[in-house]
Amino acid sequence: MLRLNSIKSKLMVFAIIATLIPSVGLGLLSFWQNEEQISSTITRELRTLTNDASREIALWVEKRAHEVRVSSTSNAVIDGLSAVSRPRALVRPGAHTANPDALAHYLRSVLSRLDTLRELTVVDATGRVVASSAAAAAAVELPQEWPPNSLTEGLVIAPPRWNEHHAAATLSIAMPVLSYDNLLMGALIAVLDLRSLQPHLKSATKSPLGEIFLLDDGGKILIGSQIGAEAQQPLDEPVLRQLQAQPSQSMIFRGMSHRKVIGLADPAENLPITIVAERDHAEIYQAWAGLRNMFLALVGAMLVVVAAVAFQMGRSIVGPLQRLMAAADKIAGGDFEVQLTAARNDELGRLTKVFIQMTNTLRRHHAEIMAANRAMQKQNEMLETLSVTDSLTGLYNRSKLDTILSDEFARYKRTRREFTLLMMDIDHFKTLNDTHGHVAGDGILAAVAGILAQSIRSIDYAARYGGDEFIVVLVETAADQALKTAERIRSQVEKIHYDANGSNLKITVSIGVVQCQPNDLTPTAVLTRADDSLYQAKRAGRNRTFLAAVSNQ
Ligand code: GH3
Ligand code: MG
Repeated sequence: MLRLNSIKSKLMVFAIIATLIPSVGLGLLSFWQNEEQISSTITRELRTLTNDASREIALWVEKRAHEVRVSSTSNAVIDGLSAVSRPRALVRPGAHTANPDALAHYLRSVLSRLDTLRELTVVDATGRVVASSAAAAAAVELPQEWPPNSLTEGLVIAPPRWNEHHAAATLSIAMPVLSYDNLLMGALIAVLDLRSLQPHLKSATKSPLGEIFLLDDGGKILIGSQIGAEAQQPLDEPVLRQLQAQPSQSMIFRGMSHRKVIGLADPAENLPITIVAERDHAEIYQAWAGLRNMFLALVGAMLVVVAAVAFQMGRSIVGPLQRLMAAADKIAGGDFEVQLTAARNDELGRLTKVFIQMTNTLRRHHAEIMAANRAMQKQNEMLETLSVTDSLTGLYNRSKLDTILSDEFARYKRTRREFTLLMMDIDHFKTLNDTHGHVAGDGILAAVAGILAQSIRSIDYAARYGGDEFIVVLVETAADQALKTAERIRSQVEKIHYDANGSNLKITVSIGVVQCQPNDLTPTAVLTRADDSLYQAKRAGRNRTFLAAVSNQ
């Protein structure tokens, strides 16, 4: 789905709209104008066609009338008619004695010479048949009053219609026949074959192009500009009515020559027939349709190109932004190891460069802060160690011992798992100090502390209680085991040969041992009992350990 909240989609939609609106708009406008132009040009050409056809028909009828007139003024016709309309005595001396058979023979001979004629019939003034080229000719109705021009042009007495007998469209004209003294005697009726008009119509359609059809009142095709036009599918009745109702106006309809045509109709001059001129719609609009298809293909191709460019543009904007966003997210999460490259030289490239600089600065500051943190942590650790350490001996100091004792005591109260406390004091240390100096005293203190540290387990604690007094806490250790440890310490100290300014000093310690017991209410109570035990060890002669009796109450 196209999400319009992304820059990429917005760019694409904008580009497509910006391409489509002007191109399709202009295209439609120009195609519409073009179509209008084609339509009006074709209409003009079709009008020319119907005019030309009308003129051709008039000319053709005029020529045929002339041919018939020549025959109507022949002696054979005049004499033939004279013979039936006047008494034999009145016949001009020397004139041929006409009989109807001879006249019919004459008519047939004329017919054989003129292939535009189908029948020739001579009728008297009342319309009765005198002689005919046809075997059975019907009487005709002649006008009471002949129009003045009928002597030269003849008179159409049967409009163009389909003649079943001749299997062709025919038209009948009557040419008055006058006697030698210009009296109307009858008429020469000619049935003309309209097929001979076809070549004239055809030549009219060479320029402009198109097809011409002549239709009778009922819409029947009489002839057309093409041979065999009369066999074509006739026009639908409503179409014909509409064409006749709007002469010279073109419209699109199902034509006689093609499935879809542009055509128009005009009435013929002096004849009750309709001239329809039409042209294949597809042929006219072929070039137009080709252009339209090319235009659509071009617009399509342009759309594809524009969409691709917009997509690429969108991607080139969104891609770096997304990489920047991902990098910013990483940095926000505390990861400064982001890899960005600013290959481009545009705004985004510059933004990326600034981002990289910013990240480098951040990374540097972060590294400095981390280093400072580590140093501070180390310092803190050192301070913490110092705060719990006795500087001379490296054992825990008095304050730390208080904490240890509190914790162990609490643990004992909670778990009933006993601990033991050794309180140790160097014998006659004051004398050693006074005799060999304070520095030697310090050295002795450190040496004794070293033995303590080596003699206990990692879970036990050794602390300097103050002056020459030390305390050892043996965790989860009963009195008998503690006594062994105390004894081991004592003997280890005894083995020390401390060299002070050349004098080999012997050092001994006295140790009081107490196991915590239920009636010890505070850590101090345990300390007090340890102090008592130490006193007992001193009193017993020093360089010895004294274990306080363990009470279970
Ligand atoms: P006793 O056998 O009864 O313990 O006799 P003593 O001489 O050891 O007596 P006491 O334990 O009371 O003497 C402690 C002496 O330790 C007093 C003081 O001069 C000395 N002293 C205390 N602190 C230090 C110290 O940090 N360095 C040195 N060199 N001497 C100290
Ligand atoms: Mg002492």
